[in-house]
Amino acid sequence: MDIRDIVVTHHHPDHYGLSGWLQSQSGCKVWMTERAHAEARLMWGDGFGDDRGNGAEENAGKDNSKDINEILPVYFIRHGMTDEWSNGIKAHLESFNSQVEPQPVVSYFDVAEPFKMGGRKWQLIITGGHAPGHVSLYHADSGLMICGDAVLPQISPNVSLLPGSDPQPLQTFLQGLRELGSYPVSMAFPGHREPFAGFEHRVNSLLAHHEERLDTAAALLTSGPLSGFAVCEILFRSRVTTVHQMRFAMSETLAHLAELARRERVVMLETDNGFLFAAADNAGEQIG
Ligand SMILES: [Zn+2]
Ligand SMILES: [Zn+2]
Repeated sequence: MDIRDIVVTHHHPDHYGLSGWLQSQSGCKVWMTERAHAEARLMWGDGFGDDRGNGAEENAGKDNSKDINEILPVYFIRHGMTDEWSNGIKAHLESFNSQVEPQPVVSYFDVAEPFKMGGRKWQLIITGGHAPGHVSLYHADSGLMICGDAVLPQISPNVSLLPGSDPQPLQTFLQGLRELGSYPVSMAFPGHREPFAGFEHRVNSLLAHHEERLDTAAALLTSGPLSGFAVCEILFRSRVTTVHQMRFAMSETLAHLAELARRERVVMLETDNGFLFAAADNAGEQIG
């Protein structure tokens, strides 16, 4: 297989998943940011590392991933998720392990230097929120932007709060959007769907979408405190039918609530039964 380099924008299995297998077939380099690779290890363990082919198969995807596969459903339960949904989360998470193995030996970008690819030098733009350490590649002379999942046409990139990862993913995502939107872009190449023009417009509509979603979530709390799961049910229930969708809906809701808390519009209260969110003005009156 004649492949020399693979550039992985971020750690999600639909992007990173086959890179290790392709590397095993071709001997190619797999490039990521160091932060994105750390997130892959958080999700799926250390993979093969330097022990490739040395009995590492049994170890691949264990250790850390076992932790997150167990931590996340407990975390969701603390935020009010019902057994009906939380029971499926662990198996759902474990189902990804086979999709990312064998894991690649990763080369880290030198983020201070342009990356040479296809006869061009690409500026690396690192943002987070959708995925920590996500890299977009920008070619200034032509205005081409390879933006991975940082900016997508038509669909809003998922922004997930994950225990042990970025505690303010929505803030990070919005900062990243503003940074990406500051580049003059002639054509954007996203990780899903078709290349698109109007990059700045798309960035602005994603920024507006999240502000609206924040207002909607805050408004739900004006009549009393709610769990993260209760907010999630109101925001997303009609569109959620699978465990996969519920995991993203729940993580996205918690990301919005964390941002509302950071902006001091909402407070998170710990009770014997788990966490509740309350409007900042009436938090004291509603509980206790
Ligand atoms: Zn992604
Ligand atoms: Zn993706």
